[in-house]
Amino acid sequence: MLPYTLVIQHAAQVLTLAGGPADRPLAGPDLHNWTIIERGYVACRGDKIVAVGPMDELDLAHITPETRLLDASGRVVMPGLVECHTHLVFGGNRAHEFERKLRGESYLDILASGGGILSTVRATRAAPEAELLANALHHLDGFLRYGVTTLEAKSGYGLDRDTELRLVRVAREAGRRQPVRVVPTFLGAHVVPPEFKEAGPRAYVDFILREVLSDLKGEAAYVDIFCEAGAFLLDVAQYFLTQAHKMGFGLKIHAEQLHDLGGCEMAAELGATSIDHCDYLTPDAAGRIARRSQGRTVAVLLPLVPLFLRQDKYAPGRAFIDQGLPVAVSTDFNPGSCPSKNLWLAMSLACLKMGFTPQEAVAAATLNAAWALGHAADCGSLEPGKRADLLLLNVGSVAEIPYWLGENPVREVIVGGELQ
Ligand SMILES: [Zn+2]
Repeated sequence: MLPYTLVIQHAAQVLTLAGGPADRPLAGPDLHNWTIIERGYVACRGDKIVAVGPMDELDLAHITPETRLLDASGRVVMPGLVECHTHLVFGGNRAHEFERKLRGESYLDILASGGGILSTVRATRAAPEAELLANALHHLDGFLRYGVTTLEAKSGYGLDRDTELRLVRVAREAGRRQPVRVVPTFLGAHVVPPEFKEAGPRAYVDFILREVLSDLKGEAAYVDIFCEAGAFLLDVAQYFLTQAHKMGFGLKIHAEQLHDLGGCEMAAELGATSIDHCDYLTPDAAGRIARRSQGRTVAVLLPLVPLFLRQDKYAPGRAFIDQGLPVAVSTDFNPGSCPSKNLWLAMSLACLKMGFTPQEAVAAATLNAAWALGHAADCGSLEPGKRADLLLLNVGSVAEIPYWLGENPVREVIVGGELQ
């Protein structure tokens, strides 16, 4: 009989996230009603979870002197956080624009004046690869302290062939050099670069389709596009996603962030894995997406973004959940609209501004975020067979997680069965 290598025992609550359907994200009442085990344990062997249950079912025959025991008395044990929407790799920062924002300039005004995303593009193109990698590793270290064990990293601050490919390469290398698993996404269609200002958005996405995507096979599973006024309008976004899908890429979209252009519904029709932002997505459209995608397209909600952009409009998350649309929550970590890695704060805002319950917020930042990345088979819940990515928190119940506003509740992080 093979011994357990690690057992976390006597937990006040084990948030398993188990109990929902196996073949799709949690939606509707399932988002709240997953299994919490009171006075429970989690047992790991190597990098996998092998048993989860109440303490009185812990099989002592598997515990030997080699088994590492962690006492979780009075504390919550839960899966490592899955951060499913970040722009991890970039040069410089935009603190100078923060002051412009505070004086009242809008996000789209700053972008139109050559700032915003384009100012980060200039800094990123000028940065040596080693500097981009060092920055990414610094940010990943911060995410790990917050308990993030899997993280998506979008490109999108290069907007030329070499820099975009460099950003994907840096994300992958950063993933190899530290414990957080990094999942790269290609967002070459972030905005139109200055070189294509004359030729226009359609010419730029044709360039990406022709010159860049063929070099990304096996390097990035998903492509993404920013569908918004000042970036790419609906027809160009639809064309780009349709062509990329034919090339074998999974689809994501930034849509309905500042206007309702119909991007979410369009992308969901094409089989998008996730539709991100959704602040202006209507509950009716959310219901149609839930039905037509058969609950497979995940709406990734990013409540730190309207907070940081000083906007009053937050995605109507409660209505989305009631319509049966699966939802995830993420930071959207990036230098412009959310320079925060605090996914716990995003979960609190999902409760305060979007009407989530604490259980729903936890599910949205773990299992449903894993679905939004195509990684639900191996992370996002505490179930036998999954990677042993888990957290021991300084709180005693699920309700306390979003309650301690802005705090980091993480006491211990375990990645692949290893205490960090
Ligand atoms: Zn984003």
